[in-house]
Parts: sequence; C-alpha cells; structure tokens
Amino acid sequence: MIDEEKGQCPYCWEEIYFEIDMSMDHQEYVEDCQVCCNPILLRVNIYEGSINIDTAKEDDGF
Ligand SMILES: [Zn+2]
Repeated sequence: MIDEEKGQCPYCWEEIYFEIDMSMDHQEYVEDCQVCCNPILLRVNIYEGSINIDTAKEDDGF
C-alpha cells in the first residue's frame, strides 16, 4: 500500500509530497526534490497509520 505525505525540502523549503510504502514502519532513503532536484535524505516512521517524515540534506545526515 502506498500513501502520500507532505514533507519539506531542506534545500528550497518547498513542501512536496512523497510516496510512502506503508508496509514498512521505519524507512530511510534518498529521494530527489521534485522542485530543485537536490537529494533529500528521508527518514519515515509510521505509527498506527500516521506518517512522520524527517528530511535532511544528504550530506548532513541525521
Ligand atoms: Zn527542493
């Protein structure tokens, strides 16, 4: 199951939607920003159906 959740790009500060695979509670991956094309490090936590997204620049880590 795929859901969409909004997160903020750490480069251009635009709010963009990420497609989240709801089958995994904890995920970390890199996805390019749809606006500025920089690599965003995403950390996704899903708890009881609600999605929490942390974003960081790829170089910074968490
Ligand atoms: Zn961006």
